[in-house]
Amino acid sequence: MARYKGPVCRLCRREGEKLFLKGERCFKDKCSVERRSYAPGQHGQRRSKVSDYGVQLREKQKVRRIYGVLEKQFRSYFYQADRKKGVTGENLLRILESRLDNVVYRLCFADSRAESRHFIRHGHFHLNGKKVNIPSLQVRPGDVISIRPKSSKIERIKTCFAAVERRGVPQWIEADKKEMKGVIHHLPTREEIPLTVREQLIVELYSK
Ligand code: SF4
Repeated sequence: MARYKGPVCRLCRREGEKLFLKGERCFKDKCSVERRSYAPGQHGQRRSKVSDYGVQLREKQKVRRIYGVLEKQFRSYFYQADRKKGVTGENLLRILESRLDNVVYRLCFADSRAESRHFIRHGHFHLNGKKVNIPSLQVRPGDVISIRPKSSKIERIKTCFAAVERRGVPQWIEADKKEMKGVIHHLPTREEIPLTVREQLIVELYSK
């Protein structure tokens, strides 16, 4: 599985805002965006005029980085979204939000999507009672995501899950905190996806 292996805080600085890629650290003073609020690199502090294309590109990169998806897969999600009924931008976000790694993150079993992917790759979760290890799996209404009984004792997962009250679980997932599992009630609407992105710009970018 190809993935970005460089410094992640650099990605936030490039986008000029917090993308919350590192879990708890993102809420502390150590956050790089708080300490150095300019783009990384030698010319990061230069001011430059951004074209319309540049604005669209940055919006696409931002969403891609939030979900940790590489360009090829992101583009294929866009084509899937375009073929579906409804608003393409919203369809795209819904597809990204329905990825298993995102659902595990939303259920507070992991502190970040990267950590969630790591746990899934190591087979710590069940989807409808069967062990899964593919982070990009798409969940569907009625799917049950649960932690493998043996894995529920892992200290790191327990620590992450302890934050469930503070972080909360979105309404489209029914969480059973006692059993440490979640059921997909429905796929999220745009209002249920807490991202301040202008997905229309991504559609414009790919439609050129
Ligand atoms: Fe981004 Fe989090 Fe790093 Fe801050 S600490 S720059 S929000 S990944």
